[in-house]
Amino acid sequence: MINAQHHLQQLNTELKHVRHCLLTTLSSSSNQLHHSLAETLHKNNPEQWLELTQKQLGSEYKDIIVRLEQLEAAVCQVDIGQYGYCCDCEEKIDSQRLNADPTAQRCSSCEPRS
Ligand SMILES: [Zn+2]
Repeated sequence: MINAQHHLQQLNTELKHVRHCLLTTLSSSSNQLHHSLAETLHKNNPEQWLELTQKQLGSEYKDIIVRLEQLEAAVCQVDIGQYGYCCDCEEKIDSQRLNADPTAQRCSSCEPRS
């Protein structure tokens, strides 16, 4: 049995952190466009941030956007009860792996080795 609630907590903690980072980075940017984007985000629900930022931010924000996507996708999987299963073989992903990265999508045998 996968302890989804435990990982959900991990996910939400990191989500909060990543969203905070995004907002801080945008607010402190010298780019006027980023400033107004930060204001837009402030007025909107965090669930919509991804949609609002994805198309407007350049490659310097790629890492943070990708992480936001991964985290939101994993939270969504918890919601629909499909969290913690490998997207290739559909086996359970071991909890050690999920503890190390709660957004892991593949089990250790399916993860492409780098
Ligand atoms: Zn697998």
